[in-house]
Amino acid sequence: MTLSWSPKTLAEAREALIQGATKVAGSTDLLVVDHATGSVRDSVLNVLGIEELQGIRVEADQLSIGASSTFTRIRESAEVAKHAPLLKDAARTIGAAQIQNRATIGGNIANASPAGDSLPALLALGALIVVSGPRERRIVPYNAFHTAYRKTVLGPDELIERILIPLPAPAVQVFRKVGTREAQAISKVVVAFASDRLDHRILANVRLAMGSVAAVPVRLHEVEILIEDNPLTPELAARAAALVAKSITPIDDVRSTAEYRRHVAGQVVRRLLLDLLAAPPA
Ligand SMILES: Cc1cc2nc3c(=O)[nH]c(=O)nc-3n(C[C@H](O)[C@H](O)[C@H](O)COP(=O)(O)OP(=O)(O)OC[C@H]3O[C@@H](n4cnc5c(N)ncnc54)[C@H](O)[C@@H]3O)c2cc1C
Repeated sequence: MTLSWSPKTLAEAREALIQGATKVAGSTDLLVVDHATGSVRDSVLNVLGIEELQGIRVEADQLSIGASSTFTRIRESAEVAKHAPLLKDAARTIGAAQIQNRATIGGNIANASPAGDSLPALLALGALIVVSGPRERRIVPYNAFHTAYRKTVLGPDELIERILIPLPAPAVQVFRKVGTREAQAISKVVVAFASDRLDHRILANVRLAMGSVAAVPVRLHEVEILIEDNPLTPELAARAAALVAKSITPIDDVRSTAEYRRHVAGQVVRRLLLDLLAAPPA
């Protein structure tokens, strides 16, 4: 028999966290795994009712997104559209409407798949993760959250409470996903690009993050420096594409080959830069 908790507050969730109950949100990942492995959980903590994990709001100098926000709520949020269009675009590509109605951003992060679509967006936006345990709350920069393939800094007695995106957000934000189809496709390559501004063909403070090209979502620092240090031209876009292909460590798997991923990741960045050159954001 499975012991089940459905608390309304973090304080009420304390006992379940101490006992290391499995956290369950939309269950779009967990159900698939449990069905495939036939596992039955001893105890589960349904996090969807916990009020501290709810809501999307601007607080002082940050956009604060509750971990239990579904991708439908993220898509529909005016605050996300205004400050984090990159994340809105990522949400739009996750599964189809049925999945977006159930799947949460906290689940996407904790599931820690290198193909998780919101993850490169959070890296490019410089997100911080509010992690809560039975005794303390800590804030982890998102770039330190994933430690290895499907591993995170999250302890068994901790949960993701909120995601904080520092404001003002980057003026230039672009999301690209390459999958087998337009919708309902796990990514072959995900690219999230952010820059504080594009002024006289110079992109300032570039953040280029990718998913499905390494064991964890990654920032491509060398490519970022190349782009920042040079005026935006077709030649720069081609050099950036070549450096992307050298910088990533994709694998062959059921969805794609490493060779295809290297090629397409570079071409996505090249086209993204050419698009910015042709139509700079206002
Ligand atoms: C048909 C289908 C299509 C999909 N398409 C995509 C896609 O295109 N892109 C994509 O990125 N993903 C996709 N997914 C995967 C999945 O929908 C996402 O990863 C989703 O965001 C998981 O969220 P959830 O709320 O359902 O998590 P759950 O399944 O409830 O949990 C997933 C993991 O996160 C943990 N967890 C949940 N909430 C918390 C929390 N607050 N704190 C700590 N741990 C927590 C759970 O313990 C579990 O380990 C797809 C899944 C399906 C079934």
